[in-house]
Amino acid sequence: MSEAVLSQEEEKKLIVNAYRKLLKSIKSKMDDTDRNNIRMAYEIAVEAHSKQRRKSGEPYILHPIEVARICAEEIGLGPTAIVAALLHDVVEDTDVSLNQLKEKFGDRIARIVDGLTKLDGLYNVTSPQAENFKKVLKTLLEDVRVVLIKMADRLHNMRTLGSMPRHKQLKIAAETTFIYAPLAHRLGLYSFKTEFQDLAMKITEPEIYSEIARKLQETKLERSKYISEFLKPLNEALEEVGYPYRTTGRPKSIFSIANKIKTKDVPFEEIYDLFAVRIIVDVPLKKEKQICWQIYSIVTDVHTPIAERLKDWITTPKSNGYESLHTTVIGPEGRYVEVQIRSERMDDVAEKGFAAHWKYKGVNGSPDVFESWFDNVRDILENPDSDSVEFLNDFKTNLFQEEVYVYTPQGDLKILPKGATALDFAFSIHSNLGYQCSAIKVNKKLVPFGYKLQNGDQVSVTKSSTQKPNENWLKMVVTGKARSKIRSAMKEERRKAGDLGKESLQRKLKSMKADFDPNVDLLAKYFGFNSRPDLYFEIAVGRIALNELKTYFTVEGGKLIEIIEEIQPNTPVSDIEPAPKAKKNLIKPRLLINGESADKFEYSLSNCCNPVLGDDVFAFMAVNGGAKIHRTSCPNSTHLMANYGYRIMKAEWVSSGDRSFVVDLKITGIDKGPGVIERLTHSISTDLGLNIRSFFIEGKEGYFEGKISLLVLNKDQLNVAIKGLKNLDEVSTVVRVED
Ligand code: MN
Repeated sequence: MSEAVLSQEEEKKLIVNAYRKLLKSIKSKMDDTDRNNIRMAYEIAVEAHSKQRRKSGEPYILHPIEVARICAEEIGLGPTAIVAALLHDVVEDTDVSLNQLKEKFGDRIARIVDGLTKLDGLYNVTSPQAENFKKVLKTLLEDVRVVLIKMADRLHNMRTLGSMPRHKQLKIAAETTFIYAPLAHRLGLYSFKTEFQDLAMKITEPEIYSEIARKLQETKLERSKYISEFLKPLNEALEEVGYPYRTTGRPKSIFSIANKIKTKDVPFEEIYDLFAVRIIVDVPLKKEKQICWQIYSIVTDVHTPIAERLKDWITTPKSNGYESLHTTVIGPEGRYVEVQIRSERMDDVAEKGFAAHWKYKGVNGSPDVFESWFDNVRDILENPDSDSVEFLNDFKTNLFQEEVYVYTPQGDLKILPKGATALDFAFSIHSNLGYQCSAIKVNKKLVPFGYKLQNGDQVSVTKSSTQKPNENWLKMVVTGKARSKIRSAMKEERRKAGDLGKESLQRKLKSMKADFDPNVDLLAKYFGFNSRPDLYFEIAVGRIALNELKTYFTVEGGKLIEIIEEIQPNTPVSDIEPAPKAKKNLIKPRLLINGESADKFEYSLSNCCNPVLGDDVFAFMAVNGGAKIHRTSCPNSTHLMANYGYRIMKAEWVSSGDRSFVVDLKITGIDKGPGVIERLTHSISTDLGLNIRSFFIEGKEGYFEGKISLLVLNKDQLNVAIKGLKNLDEVSTVVRVED
C-alpha cells in the first residue's frame, strides 16, 4: 500500500470503486430483493467499519468488500453468501448486533454471519488448532457456505499479510497450511489450495519461493513457445471435432515445484513436468465422455503416450468431485508432457470444487460424492472419545490422499483413501463389523488385516462376537474412522485397567494424610499426563512407583508440596572449570527470544533441523520452561505452529559469536575410484577450512552417497561450504538435510 495519506474524498472513491468491482463480478441471477440486500449490507458495513483501518493503513471496509468479491468471482457463490461476506466482521468488531441483522436480512443470513463470527473468534484464543479445526468441520456440516466464505476471508488475509509482524505471519501461514489448504483440497477448491500453499511458502521459505518465481518468469517465453509447438499439429484435428475448445499451458504451483526439487533432489532445470497442457471443450453434457475420449485419441495419435500414465477420472470421479482425463505423452524434443482433457463443466468443478458441484448437482446422475464424505466427517466428529490432536492427525492424513476403488460382495462400489487396508474396509462398512472382524477375504482369498487394497478388489468380511480390537490393529489401518474407533475401544479397556490404579493411588494418598482432590491433578501434571485416566493407567501397569512419592513430596494441610532443592547463590567460580550455572551467565547472548537474551531460558537447538546462526528461526517453549530453536522451514514447524501456536515465540540471532553449529549435508556424486573420501575430506578441511565432525559414505556402481556433519559458524559460511562442495569435480548434489 502507498505511504501517502489519502484525502477523505479519495478514500471514498476507493471504496465506491471496490464496491462497483464487486457488483460486476456477480454472475448468478439476482432479483430485486437480492440487489437491495447487497446494497443494504454494503451500507451497513461501510457505516459500521468507518472508524477502523487495516494494518496496512487502508480503510477496513475494503476487506469485507474484497472477501465478497472473491466469493462471487473466484468461488461463484450467490447473493446470500455475498451479503454474509460483506457483513462477516460487523458483529465481531462493531456495534451492530446479530438481532439487527436478523431483522433486516432474515434468519438464514444472520445464521451464516453468526457462524463466521464464531469461527473468527477462535483465531485469538489459545486453544490448540486441532480444536479449532474441529469447530471448522462442525460448521462445515451445518452450512458449507460458512466455510467457503471463511476460505475467501483467509485468502484475502493471506494475500495482504505483508504489513503484519513476522511472527504473526508465521502463525497465520502455519494455520493456513494446516487447516485451510487441506480443507480446500478436500472441497475441491484447487485454485484456493494452490494459492494457500504458495502464499504460505512465500512466508516460511521466502528465498526458495522467490528463486523459483524468478526462474519461472525467466523461462516463460520458452515455455509458451514449446506449448504452441506441441499444440500446432493438433489444432486441425481438434477443429474437426466440431465443438469450441480452448487450451492452456499454465505452470504448476511454486509450492509443488519446490516440493519436487526437495523430494526428488533435482534442480529446477531438470524438472520435466513444470507445466501441464489442458484442453477444455465446450460440449453438451450428454456428449462429454465421448468427446473427451475422441480428443484423447487425437492427442495420442500425434504424440506417443506413456501407457501407465493414463488416469481416467471421467468414468470414476475422485471423491472430491474432480473429473478429468489425464495422460502423459512424449512431446517435441523427447520431453514428457502431461495433458489434461475435460469439458467446461468439469473444469468449473475442478477449479471451484464443492461450490460448482452444487450448481451441477445431480446433472450427470452420479452419486453425490460430498454427501458420503460429510457422513464420514460426521462419524469422526461424533466420536466423543477422540482426542482432538489424534483426531486432527488422522483427519489430515485422509484429506490429501488419492483413493482406491473396491467392491462389496454385493458389487457395491466403496471408495477408500489410497493405502487403505482390508481392516479399514471392515470399519468403513460399519464400526461393529470392524470391532468383530475375524477374517477378511479379498477376491475369495484370505488376506492379512493389514493387506493394502488394490483397485477393483472384491472384499468380504467375516465377524465373530468374541473378537476384540487390540493395540496392533492401529498399525493395520490408515483411515481416520478406523483409527478413532479402535482407539476408543482401547480407551475403554484402559479405563477398566485404570480403575485399579486409581484405587492404589487413593490408598497411598490416604496413608500420607493427603487429600485425593486436587492432589491427583497435581500428580498428573507432575508426571506429564494430560488426564487422570492416563495417570491411573500408568500406576496400574506399575510404571509409576507410588512408594517413592514421599521422597519428592511433603504434605501440609492435606496438600502435596513438591520438595525443591535449593540452589546455592554465589557458588564460587573455579578458575579452571566454571560451574555450569555460572558458566551460562558468562556466555554472551547470541540469540534473543521475545527480545530477551535466550540464555534466560533453558534453550537448545533442535536436532531435527539443526539451525545455524543466520537461519530464520523461532522458539518453541516446552512445558517445563525450556525452549527449542527450530528453523522456520523445519518440517516439524507447521505442525508445532498450528497445534501449539501459543507456545511459539519470536527468536532472532544477534551476535556473531564464536560458537560453531553442526549441520548435516547429503552429498551424492560419481565415484572415481578409491580415495574419494580422502579427496573430499582434503577439500573440505584444507581448501574450505572447515571442521568435519563425522563423515559417512557409501558407494555403489560408480556412484556414491554420503552424509557429512560439518561445523560452521553461520549461514554464510554454510552457503560457501555448499557451493565449494558442489564445485568439486566428483560431486553432483549437495543438500542440507532435515530429518
Ligand atoms: Mn475478515
